[in-house]
Amino acid sequence: MALVTTTEMFAKAYNGGYAIGAFNVNNMEIVQGITEAAGELKSPVILQVSKGAREYANPVYLRKLVEAAVENYPDIPIALHLDHGDSFETCKACIDGGFTSVMIDKSGESFEKNIEITRQVVEYAHERGVVVEAELGTLAGIEDEVKVAADAASYTRPEEVQEFVERTGCDSLAIAIGTSHGAYKFKPEQCTVNEKGILVPPPLRFDVLEECMKRLPGFPIVLHGSSSVPQDFVKMVNQYGGSMPNAVGVPEEQLRKASQLAVCKINIDSDIRIAMTAVIRQYLAENPSHFDPRQYLKPARKAVKDMVAHKIVNVLGSDGKA
Ligand SMILES: [Zn+2]
Repeated sequence: MALVTTTEMFAKAYNGGYAIGAFNVNNMEIVQGITEAAGELKSPVILQVSKGAREYANPVYLRKLVEAAVENYPDIPIALHLDHGDSFETCKACIDGGFTSVMIDKSGESFEKNIEITRQVVEYAHERGVVVEAELGTLAGIEDEVKVAADAASYTRPEEVQEFVERTGCDSLAIAIGTSHGAYKFKPEQCTVNEKGILVPPPLRFDVLEECMKRLPGFPIVLHGSSSVPQDFVKMVNQYGGSMPNAVGVPEEQLRKASQLAVCKINIDSDIRIAMTAVIRQYLAENPSHFDPRQYLKPARKAVKDMVAHKIVNVLGSDGKA
């Protein structure tokens, strides 16, 4: 199977009450860890590339790594997606370079400007068989080049979604219902503390999601900033010399619930980063004389695989859907 678009994945996910995981890729071990998990669990998967990843790895390397994964796992549908495309030009470069899906994120602009540029990308993409994700509403947090202060963030306004989708022709829509980019999604004062002393963030705004669903029946919704920041890995990072105080994410049960509704794509990046870092820190602390990168990247790659497998089975529900 060659790279696919997300059209069929999303239609099946919408009707089947599950979601597809969109995992960010930056190097070989991450690509291998994600696709090994998806391959074994027979899950469709979206490999996504951010602006930061393109700058870090060079777009050609990333595309070739993803092509290698497609060759290795011919039986699962794999989409190659641009995460947070910031301009028509970036989207065009990815469309011309073999991506099957792009996001144009003009959510920081006015409603009219967002529509105008999204429409432009959609026209270029659709002529070439590529699908487009757009965004309405603004998420807080930090992700690569994307930085939004909590007070500049705003929930998606459900009364705008129908007009936006109709006028742009976009294929899926990222909405803001309280998720947030990065490992520090919520300030401690926004959270409550549970009996184990762990910060519990404010619940997602399912009322906003349900209102959007009503206005866009059958239309795939996307959630960004949906890492759960597993506390066992945060603890491991801190135990082996790291410092991640008050790192907190979105509880997995809430994401599971969202995936049973109209949410067809859930973006997960920080959890993979944290798992890799925790395992590498532990390895180096326990093996101070080792210096071969393969020695610590091997368990790191395994940590990526295990994290993705956990998400596919327990959060997304996409196992066996390839
Ligand atoms: Zn995002």
